[in-house]
Amino acid sequence: MTYAGKMRVIAIEEHYWDPEVSKHFKGYDSGRRGPLTERLYDLDQIRLKEMDEAGIDLQVLSHGAPSLQKMDAETAVGLARGVNDRLHQACRAHPDRFAGFAALPTSDPKAAADELERSVTRLGFKGAMVHGLTNGLFLDDKRFWPIFERARALDVPLYMHPATPHPAVVEAYYKDYIEAYPSILTAGWGFTVETATQAIRLVLSGVFEAYPGLKIILGHLGESLPFSLWRIDQAMSRAGNRGNSFRDTFSAHFWITTSGNFSNPALLCSVMELGIDRIMFSVDWPYVMNGPAVTWLDSVPLSAEDKAKLLHGNVTKLLRL
Ligand code: MN
Repeated sequence: MTYAGKMRVIAIEEHYWDPEVSKHFKGYDSGRRGPLTERLYDLDQIRLKEMDEAGIDLQVLSHGAPSLQKMDAETAVGLARGVNDRLHQACRAHPDRFAGFAALPTSDPKAAADELERSVTRLGFKGAMVHGLTNGLFLDDKRFWPIFERARALDVPLYMHPATPHPAVVEAYYKDYIEAYPSILTAGWGFTVETATQAIRLVLSGVFEAYPGLKIILGHLGESLPFSLWRIDQAMSRAGNRGNSFRDTFSAHFWITTSGNFSNPALLCSVMELGIDRIMFSVDWPYVMNGPAVTWLDSVPLSAEDKAKLLHGNVTKLLRL
């Protein structure tokens, strides 16, 4: 691998599963391990071996979808502390290889904000990851703003990760293709639509005016938003709209990562819209393997200076690694 030993590589959307969480979700059962689940439950040998083979120095670990978001408040609050403490143990076992994003019980926003604070100040976590809707609600709903207020106060980013779309959306948009193409619900399209919608709603909600230093990360090269930024910005400025600059708010508060989207045209579009300083490398392991991600880096048409920003410089600054 070209990058092994040549340039520091940090990947920040790298998942694992906590058995105490996954046992609450049908089909995520830890008893039935294939190549994917074996990797998700591994926080040591398999993970480190595959990082070494690809030349990835550090993974910022996060629970896979749907994590604590698709649980009732009581269950999620009861689990959160243990989940984050166990992730902390995994990071402590290999402090030069792993860092952590907290899992938050968003269905109890005050408890989620408190757990974010505990995870950052006591466990050294770098922020938190949130997966899709909570109780059918997008996070721009004002009930969730205590989480954003706390993230702002702690100066840590929140990573907005996809999860399976709302059941009504599944019914209306995707139902008739799920059997032949189950990925239409997830990485094929459903994830993209839902997470891009979450980001747009956050911009429109006024949460960034309320908390001006708030920082949000999107994976998958921004869930298609860099490609659509000009059109969204123009349309939101038309008569009848409130008139804030979508572009200015999005560009000031969002960072994006390359997770699971190793496309040079998409990367160059993102660089042209947001600038290289807003883009960070990620793989999305083990849903996507490290090898193709690192091989792609060879073909990325950026200067050595910009590649260094992409692979470690920007994230080191944002997460204060
Ligand atoms: Mn992911």
